[in-house]
Amino acid sequence: MPNTLHGLKALVTSGPTQEPLDPIRYLTNHSSGKQGHAIATALAAHGAEVTLISGPVHIPDPKNTHVIHVIEAKQMLEACLSVLEQQIDVVVCAAAVSDWRFRDTFPQKLKKQPDTGHLTLSLVKNPDILHAIATHTTLRPWLVIGFAAETEEVITHAQAKLVSKQCDWILANDVSQSVFNADNNTLQLIKEDSVETWPTMTKAAVAEKLAQEIAKAFGR
Ligand code: C5P
Repeated sequence: MPNTLHGLKALVTSGPTQEPLDPIRYLTNHSSGKQGHAIATALAAHGAEVTLISGPVHIPDPKNTHVIHVIEAKQMLEACLSVLEQQIDVVVCAAAVSDWRFRDTFPQKLKKQPDTGHLTLSLVKNPDILHAIATHTTLRPWLVIGFAAETEEVITHAQAKLVSKQCDWILANDVSQSVFNADNNTLQLIKEDSVETWPTMTKAAVAEKLAQEIAKAFGR
């Protein structure tokens, strides 16, 4: 494996987040962490110094990376902001961060209400980690990459996301056929002025191709 990313510092987010309601219940999604972990592995294999911030997943920590385990989106943001202090060169936000968390959390198990058949719970918006990193006034990495999972008009929505999140590249995929927990992925690499469709390949192959693209961007 060529050492094309030697001397660069990379930050990768991966997996879902879990937003607690009470000690035994939470809000989450089906993200497996496979794609984000594969990206951390590939960047490390190319010689980058990699920090992976992972939500709760059932796959092992990638080799040769520094892994920080978090549960909630707020913790993931805090961990990212603290890692940015190390002067990160490239960030890949692959985590499926929960858009919402419970407004109220309960220290004890929430009981059934005997006299009513419904329960109303309020959600509040979680911070957008990718946007926070991309708009950081002093510690923005030189290359900021996000993902966009879309079910329709993939390119249009992903291009809009590139602008709204203020990141440099978006890897967009069509999740109308589920990709969660799958080993293959079909992506389009969207930059400000180009769209490149990648053939369907394994998540490891996607990670390798992305590592090569990143190396090219850094003139390696
Ligand atoms: O807005 P949407 O969730 O579709 O954007 C997806 C991209 O934004 C992914 O790169 C994801 O990691 C990132 N994201 C984030 N924090 C959020 C929501 C999304 O970093 N709260």
